[in-house]
Amino acid sequence: MNKPLTPALRRQLVVGNWKLHGSIAKNQALIDQLIDSLQYLHHADFAVCVPYPYFFQAQDLLTGTNIAWGSQNVSQFDHGAYTSSISASMIAEFGCKFAIIGHSERRSLSHESNEKAAIRFTRALSAGITPIYCVGETLAEHESGHAQQIVHDQVLAITQGLDDAMFAAAKQLGAVIAYEPVWAIGTGQAATAEQAQTMHAYIRQLIAARDEDFSQKVRIIYGGSVTPKNAYHILTMPDIDGSLVGRSALIAADFAGICAIANSIDA
Ligand code: PEP
Repeated sequence: MNKPLTPALRRQLVVGNWKLHGSIAKNQALIDQLIDSLQYLHHADFAVCVPYPYFFQAQDLLTGTNIAWGSQNVSQFDHGAYTSSISASMIAEFGCKFAIIGHSERRSLSHESNEKAAIRFTRALSAGITPIYCVGETLAEHESGHAQQIVHDQVLAITQGLDDAMFAAAKQLGAVIAYEPVWAIGTGQAATAEQAQTMHAYIRQLIAARDEDFSQKVRIIYGGSVTPKNAYHILTMPDIDGSLVGRSALIAADFAGICAIANSIDA
């Protein structure tokens, strides 16, 4: 496979978002297959974000492998009378490396604002967990030509919302941005590679306004109906540094196929 384009600084990252799927038996089978398929892929980074009850299992099965694990959110609180909340420091105890923050399903189901997502982002950082901060416009926003404005506001919640110490922590832990157009999530209708590249370049430019150096290093990954079929075209775009994968992450052969493509792109 040709080795294009990705600037040398950024390794590809592929993260599976399992959402509300799994059981102890299904997870065991999926993880076993992933360990087997990914064990010789050393040129990219891989992770699965599992439902909270399965951290223990993920830690048990994945420790010592080249697959990290993480959560799909963290509370904006650290501790206290917040029934059903789970804090970043709790998930850190299970070896989680990543936490998805501000996923569009959380934004819509919990009416999560940019400000609250930014607080969750800092909670993750404070616990030593790398946030994967999701941004992206809805179909209505896309069709009305407001996509850039929406993404602008979502990104600025982080680039302007963090103080210097938190921004330094974000750099140090390698915070990740995931561009996930909502109209592409779970629809089978991925953005074109060119559409995604345009938005990724824009996001990088927004980050450069706060920190030029970080803008070159930050991984901006694309999510929305990525499959082994469309992954090569998407992942070889110069500003696309990997993928956040939903549906295809539940099928071992598909997730492994996307990981193998990411692995083939020279960092
Ligand atoms: C997601 O929900 O983060 C996602 C990218 O889902 P899918 O791959 O199913 O579109």
